[in-house]
Amino acid sequence: MNLHRFFVSASIFTPEKTFVLQGEFGHQLSRVLRLAPCATVVLLDGMGREYLAELTHFDRNGTVTGRVIEERLATNEPRTQVTLFQALLKGERFDYVLQKGTEIGVSAFVPVLTERVIGGSSPVKMERWRKIVREAAEQSRRGLLPSVVEPLPFGQALKLMPEESLKLMAWEEEKISSLRKVLRTTPPPTSVSLLVGPEGGFSPAEAAEATLAGIQTISLGSRILRAETAGPTATALILYELGDI
Ligand code: SAH
Repeated sequence: MNLHRFFVSASIFTPEKTFVLQGEFGHQLSRVLRLAPCATVVLLDGMGREYLAELTHFDRNGTVTGRVIEERLATNEPRTQVTLFQALLKGERFDYVLQKGTEIGVSAFVPVLTERVIGGSSPVKMERWRKIVREAAEQSRRGLLPSVVEPLPFGQALKLMPEESLKLMAWEEEKISSLRKVLRTTPPPTSVSLLVGPEGGFSPAEAAEATLAGIQTISLGSRILRAETAGPTATALILYELGDI
């Protein structure tokens, strides 16, 4: 049975394993999805646990009460953690990266401000971005909720890449080292830090800085992908090559 899945804060659960859902969320359950008492749903804490729950009571102002039937470890996560360091993109393109990346299996998103980012001063929409990720994670039945941090300047983003991760920069000028070659010649990584540029690509200075920081430049093939295609595609290729898809 395909139960509705929702990410919630772990703090909603009482020691007696009951919970109350209010506001927009309660409204969504009762008015939008038209669930009624005795409906079962899956609640996820976003950090690795999921709760099979029964909704027991709906009141008039949209407050829903329920109880946990079963608590278990959330499954359905790739073994390899891919963190996508994506240069900011114009308009809805960044939204696509978040949505498609989440469906495919990105574990964390780091928006990056690079030299050729267009309109970098536009207001950042953290709340909207996190909503896109949450909805995509619910829809694609993720067990963990991918994180999205505030945009970081290029240099700071590089510093955030864990030393032990396989650090890759998708670079359209790289003609020799392919993603496949790198994945087949290094021990299977438990985490990958993947850097993808904006519409205008990376500057040569940025590529040099990344190389100095120990990041390998890789090609995604002879065809140039649009910036919003590159990250999700590379993630799918990484997880496929590592047997996670
Ligand atoms: N303006 C550039 C293309 C930028 S594509 C040009 O016309 O040459 C946007 C980003 O997607 C790039 O910075 C890179 O990170 C990634 N990308 C797209 N196609 C790629 C490919 N074939 N190999 C490696 N990276 C690629």
